[in-house]
Amino acid sequence: MDRLLVDKLSGDPIKIKLKESQTIGLKNKIVISGPCAIENYDTMRAIAKELKNIGINILRGGAFKPRTSPYDFQGLENEGLSILKSIKDEFDMIVSTEIMDTRDVEHALDYIDIIQIGSRNMYNYSLLKEVGKTKAPVILKRGISATIKEWLYAAEYIMVNGNENIILCERGIRTFETSTRNTLDLNAVAYIKNKYRLPIIVDPSHGTGLRELVAPMSLAAIAAGADGLIIESHIKPDISISDSAQTIDILTLKDIIDKINIIGEAYGFSN
Ligand code: PEP
Ligand code: MN
Repeated sequence: MDRLLVDKLSGDPIKIKLKESQTIGLKNKIVISGPCAIENYDTMRAIAKELKNIGINILRGGAFKPRTSPYDFQGLENEGLSILKSIKDEFDMIVSTEIMDTRDVEHALDYIDIIQIGSRNMYNYSLLKEVGKTKAPVILKRGISATIKEWLYAAEYIMVNGNENIILCERGIRTFETSTRNTLDLNAVAYIKNKYRLPIIVDPSHGTGLRELVAPMSLAAIAAGADGLIIESHIKPDISISDSAQTIDILTLKDIIDKINIIGEAYGFSN
């Protein structure tokens, strides 16, 4: 098939309502933030409170963690979902977490608003079909070695099964470069905005692996046309259980948002 549902020739650009007041795919830029993993209730609540204070109302945090080593922390799993739900209710936030298993899709939606499909699962066609049967917003991360075409076909799997609420997420690809964890492919952002209907956000945390690079690459992503960012943050980045080296503190995040607002004034968008 040459023309896909995700193609601009097939329809209008897709706008996704995350909540009454929060849409993605328009001129506004969204910022999703929170820790790599949900560590415990108190830490997650403290992070959410600080994020809310700086105006962020979309919270991320992994309940099911796809770790390279089976000996590393695997996440709080269902307890993590409950923590997210209680924080969502207390702070009136939108919450997002990665779901890895088809068996978790339906019940997870009693706790969370956005399903994240992680890089390692972009090729999990059973999972893509399962989230396609829901109407939940889905963040579809690019596979670590996926071409743009393979990634778009993954989105097509979700869409053809009935769910068009897809947010693509560029999170860096594996290249010959070893100085950074991944190579953040901002070409993909401009390419997709030009030809395809789906909103796209950028994850400069996994894209670089280095917290010093998160601010500059966030700004570069927005300048390249991204509809938003997903950034790992923590009240104490140095002691975060996973991905500490790429996790920023809340003040640094606030500074990124202030700078996005300055770019927004020049380009005519808001966050
Ligand atoms: C994450 O965002 O929690 C994550 C594991 O990212 P990725 O799937 O991009 O590696
Ligand atoms: Mn992480």
